[in-house]
Amino acid sequence: MSDTIFTKIIKGEIPCHKVYENDLVFAFLDISPLSRGHVLVIPKEPAATLDQLSAESAGALGEALPALCRAVMKATGATAYNILQNNGAEAHQAVFHVHFHIIPKVETGEGLGIVWNTKSLESGETLAASIREHL
Ligand code: AMP
Repeated sequence: MSDTIFTKIIKGEIPCHKVYENDLVFAFLDISPLSRGHVLVIPKEPAATLDQLSAESAGALGEALPALCRAVMKATGATAYNILQNNGAEAHQAVFHVHFHIIPKVETGEGLGIVWNTKSLESGETLAASIREHL
């Protein structure tokens, strides 16, 4: 499979504004930010979606994310932010390499806009049991 744009960024073949790198994780500024300080945090492992990611990379991302959130807040002065992680084209994923967005939410309203269309929970116990069985 050909490299995604994010693999090319990790390899240095495409420029970026890097903010962090270790053996397993890479983070850089989003090229089309929703707000100042919009950062993308990605594993070096080229998994397309989160469910395909190894436990090792997932652990490394989990460790890096809070520190990066703190750094973004300090650098921008933001006191609120959203983490967004899209999987699949229907879920607005455009780049098929796992990535977490850190998106500061600021008083001007800049940041992630959310439409939250809630439904009633139906057959909750059956559904929860089915998910438990598949773990
Ligand atoms: P998603 O819709 O979750 O797949 O988001 C992909 C994100 O990648 C978007 O926010 C884009 O602005 C961002 N993006 C695409 N190409 C680049 C690039 N070359 N450098 C930085 N961010 C990029």
